[in-house]
Amino acid sequence: MRRLFSCQSASIPVRKTRGLTASGSGRMTPPNAWGGSTLSGTLSYVYWLTQRSAIAQGDDPALFAIGRAVRLLVDAHPLTEHDTTHRSSMTSDDPIIESNLIQPCLYETHSHTPLCKHATGMPTEYAAVAFQRGLKGLTITCHNPMPDGFSAHVRMGLDEFDQYVEIIEAAKQQWAGRVDVRMGIEADFFPGYESFLEKQISENAFHYVIGSVHPQVPEYVAKYWLDDPFENQVNYFRRLADAAETGLFDCISHPDLIKNQTAEAWDPQRILPEICRTLDRIAKTGLAMELNTSGVNKRIQEMNPFPAMLSEMLQRGIPVVIGADAHEPGRVGDGYLDAMDLLESVGYQELSFFLDRKRMTVPISVARQSLVAHSQR
Ligand SMILES: [Zn+2]
Ligand SMILES: [Zn+2]
Repeated sequence: MRRLFSCQSASIPVRKTRGLTASGSGRMTPPNAWGGSTLSGTLSYVYWLTQRSAIAQGDDPALFAIGRAVRLLVDAHPLTEHDTTHRSSMTSDDPIIESNLIQPCLYETHSHTPLCKHATGMPTEYAAVAFQRGLKGLTITCHNPMPDGFSAHVRMGLDEFDQYVEIIEAAKQQWAGRVDVRMGIEADFFPGYESFLEKQISENAFHYVIGSVHPQVPEYVAKYWLDDPFENQVNYFRRLADAAETGLFDCISHPDLIKNQTAEAWDPQRILPEICRTLDRIAKTGLAMELNTSGVNKRIQEMNPFPAMLSEMLQRGIPVVIGADAHEPGRVGDGYLDAMDLLESVGYQELSFFLDRKRMTVPISVARQSLVAHSQR
């Protein structure tokens, strides 16, 4: 039976951990002020300092070696475990909280690579930012290769997929022990490609599969676009539900993206009844939906989806995954604190992310503290 840690600030099960700890004040503090001044905590602090220093010194191998030696001592020091309520969605072997000490626990769940032809920076550069900003991990989710030249201008070719695997694996190795780098994919949902997607997803070891409807791609425009912008909005939300009902994906991304293509006719109150019908369908699938922070940089400058839609999602019990949709390293983790504020403002108390295609949850209060405690911004 899995054993989980209890903690003061979280009601969810969390797991045994060793390693990074910090105060909730936003700054690293000396070990003796560090939540109990345990030997483990002190060693963890030393480990953390050596890792930071090694990176500051341009990946100094000697400092990394010292860090590894300290890490062995940390791992050798036993910690107390407490049983707490089991939750099936918490299945990672990686813990979040030790006693009342908040660990890095969040992932950048949505990020791209230059293979999609409209992003910059290699996965290892994204991982560096994830580390600096107090994230535990990074899931790369570039646009999936598609056959028939489907919007080929914004995605890797089928023959480039091996390269995708390689550059993620390289980052994973380079950041091992510091940032948990995982391979995911952002897969386009478009009618007629379901069997292709099913094969592609089943044949590759993705940790997270995002299902996306991109109303701006030429194929979507050719098939669906009408003169009436409201009808385009209706069509888009129906396609989102279609995507969810395929059962191929873990999460539906940026789920009101259409507002940027039909901004002149965007009236949240008018479209909300249609959105509610879409959410009814999505809720039945059990899928998560994304709160995508990149929306603040788009034509309608707010996250996707908008607050009233988030509230409707909450009423239907739809889990939310925060993602920055980073197309350059500087956007890793961008807007996460604002996203958590927004989620709490509509009543969400926890957020989700996926590892090994299993949904994990963390209380927003814990997630926020983990970022504040470990971010070097
Ligand atoms: Zn997308
Ligand atoms: Zn994306």
